[in-house]
Amino acid sequence: MTAESPSHTALVRRARRINRELALLYPDAHTELNFTSPLELLVATILSAQTTDKRVNMVTPTLFARYPTAADYAAADRGEMEKIIQSTGFYRAKTNSLIGLGQALCDRFGGEVPNKLKDLVTLPGVGRKTANVVLGNAFGIPGITVDTHFGRLARRFGWTTSLDPEKVEADVATLIPRKDWTDLSQRMIWHGRRVCHARRPACGACALARLCPSYGEGPTDPEVAAKLVKPGPFS
Ligand code: SF4
Repeated sequence: MTAESPSHTALVRRARRINRELALLYPDAHTELNFTSPLELLVATILSAQTTDKRVNMVTPTLFARYPTAADYAAADRGEMEKIIQSTGFYRAKTNSLIGLGQALCDRFGGEVPNKLKDLVTLPGVGRKTANVVLGNAFGIPGITVDTHFGRLARRFGWTTSLDPEKVEADVATLIPRKDWTDLSQRMIWHGRRVCHARRPACGACALARLCPSYGEGPTDPEVAAKLVKPGPFS
């Protein structure tokens, strides 16, 4: 398919309709991690691997008060930090990442969090997904964050066929205006958590049903589907 083919045009049109519908559904979608600076968001996002945002939000007040700067992370006592973040799981690896992160920020970026994807992904514990979360939410630079929800929904919408997050990101970037990337990322995650679940999506209670080529993948009976909807909040 080329960018000019009618089928691509139709795909773009439908994708933008879904994007608008998601904006109406979740006008105040935002990251459910608590933070007040790029460093705090970077740390919280690293901690959120393999756990819930709610659990991360329980440890970050203590963590952020104890380690306000990159230099504080670099100089942290490993045992003390492990104890603070223990309940988020994988705390040894996460402690390694946070101390390494502090050192890398001090050594290479003057103690500041860089605002470029190519720099962010060189930091310990920071992949493309984390980098895009930070760019979008802490710096206001549009980024597509492909997590498990985003990837699943993008495939159900027919926006991509790929399981590779980088390819998903590239495919969606051709369909949705750049200025909407960050908000779209949040809204896809919210819809995935609440309605379009991995197993048994609530199709019969889904506001996107008439636009979604995967309508029918879950129960279409309104009463059955309504029971599958999870109201949140998830933080
Ligand atoms: S119609 Fe079903 S598959 Fe499509 S977005 Fe809604 S819940 Fe997901």
